[in-house]
Amino acid sequence: MATSSPITIYFIALFVASSITSTMLAISVPPELTDNLHTDSGAIKLASIDYGRIIKEKPFAVLYPSSLDDIRTLINLSYSSSFPYTIAAKGQAHSTWGQAQANKGVVVQMSSLNSFRNGTGILISGDRSSGFYADVGGEQLWIDVLNATLARGLSPVSWTDYLYLTIGGTLSNAGISGQTYRKGPQITNVLELDVLTGKGEFVTCTSQKDTELFYAVLGGLGQFGIITRARIVLEPAKERVKWLRILYSDFSSFSTDQETLISTTGPSHKVMPDYLEGQLLMSQSPLDFYPQSQHQKITSLINQYGIVYLIEVATYYDNKNEDKRVKQMLKSLKGFVHGFVFEKDVTYLEFLNRVHDEEIVLRKKGLWDIPHPWLNIFIPRSRITDFDNGAFRNILLKRNFTSSTVLVYPLLRSKWDERMSAVIPDEEDVFYVVGFLDASADDWETFDNRNKDILQFCVNGGIKFKQYLGHHATKEEWINHFGSKWNTFQQSKARFDPKMILSPGQRIFNN
Ligand code: FAD
Repeated sequence: MATSSPITIYFIALFVASSITSTMLAISVPPELTDNLHTDSGAIKLASIDYGRIIKEKPFAVLYPSSLDDIRTLINLSYSSSFPYTIAAKGQAHSTWGQAQANKGVVVQMSSLNSFRNGTGILISGDRSSGFYADVGGEQLWIDVLNATLARGLSPVSWTDYLYLTIGGTLSNAGISGQTYRKGPQITNVLELDVLTGKGEFVTCTSQKDTELFYAVLGGLGQFGIITRARIVLEPAKERVKWLRILYSDFSSFSTDQETLISTTGPSHKVMPDYLEGQLLMSQSPLDFYPQSQHQKITSLINQYGIVYLIEVATYYDNKNEDKRVKQMLKSLKGFVHGFVFEKDVTYLEFLNRVHDEEIVLRKKGLWDIPHPWLNIFIPRSRITDFDNGAFRNILLKRNFTSSTVLVYPLLRSKWDERMSAVIPDEEDVFYVVGFLDASADDWETFDNRNKDILQFCVNGGIKFKQYLGHHATKEEWINHFGSKWNTFQQSKARFDPKMILSPGQRIFNN
């Protein structure tokens, strides 16, 4: 043994305990690594919870890396062992189904790289003619990227609704929001990646160099390597945002107008918003966005129709001319309820960071750190009306799930890159994101059972949906999820993480 420190002995004892034989393992843990490996109950507890607060898997140890080499050493140690242990990079653990956990393995607390970066975690380069970009550590938060780039009058182009997520975490999924229909998901706005593979090799990859790794990692659920740096596309930032909510009493008008707004060929394409999403308003939905004086009128509309659908759009601007775009955009819409258009004018930062305001409120009420049985699915456009009838009306409304936060908005397949690991529905040009974003302190199973019923409704009705940020119980379900991408996905796994060390919490290869 390289050291006889208590941590090393404990760590190795745990390896022995985890192995199927009682053979002593000849693992030599270098002292510089053991200093950063924590096995105390506090560290273990923190690494075994996530935002979902449903799955709780205990790792043996947590690595707080003080350099990228620490992570490489940890991977090498596992890779070269005859009893490899699993390793999960943990961004902020904002996953909801244990995806950043490592049962009896080691969790890497990526945020501790911040001190190693010493302020160099976000570096901005480029110029007007060739374009701007930021080189960002995989552990960095999108909110910090926004603040750093805004200080230079720049901004990433594609976002998630919430910004306290890490670069490595969202790029392992896709990273979607209201900008995705125009700019593509975050994974399509990456120029270069540094990746530490499951064989402990550092690789810099792009769409031209080491392409298999590049495309595998983007949307790759952490299966092929740990992202230690991503080069993110930037554009000049606007200063202000017109933020609108437009209410509809029927689904058909709502979805028709959403599709008009995202159309790249229709008459309104010149006034396309910079951001487009949609939501359901039901009897228990919060009405904070709207002026108090309008609450009564909105509540009456909800009472009349059961579900009111809202289109949320935003246009960015830095001069008053942009007001015209909002007026023209509204003219292109056919079916909203007259008198039910609500507008706010906020800074670009306030708009992008809007969910953080909700977080502050929920934290104060003790409603943030509670179970989140979330379900996010992509539904092909041709079946979205059936989904409205079957899921929104017959399940949500009939069973009185009227406090649920439900997002629904269309995306364009042309903005996704088929070569990347992220999965979207086959064939159709337009598909809808539907997110059931529930939280429940004491009864998450009820919501989870309802979600299962929604999935079953889709299966029974032949709706070819795909889950996003999802979890699947068996390998067969994962194979079905990846569909035609499965062969490539598993070949890349065999090439870059042949011992199946990385991100075991996804339960794809470690079921
Ligand atoms: P983690 O949960 O820590 O990790 C996610 C997965 O990636 C794990 O498998 C982990 O092992 C792996 N991983 C983490 N870091 C790395 C790395 N550096 N390299 C390789 N693999 C890594 N998503 C959207 O797309 N759009 C949204 O609008 C959106 N809104 C959200 C709002 C809230 C309030 C929350 C809590 C989540 C939201 N998400 C959204 C989901 C979010 O994208 C996922 O939780 C995602 O996993 C990022 O979270 P994280 O950075 O904490 O990653």
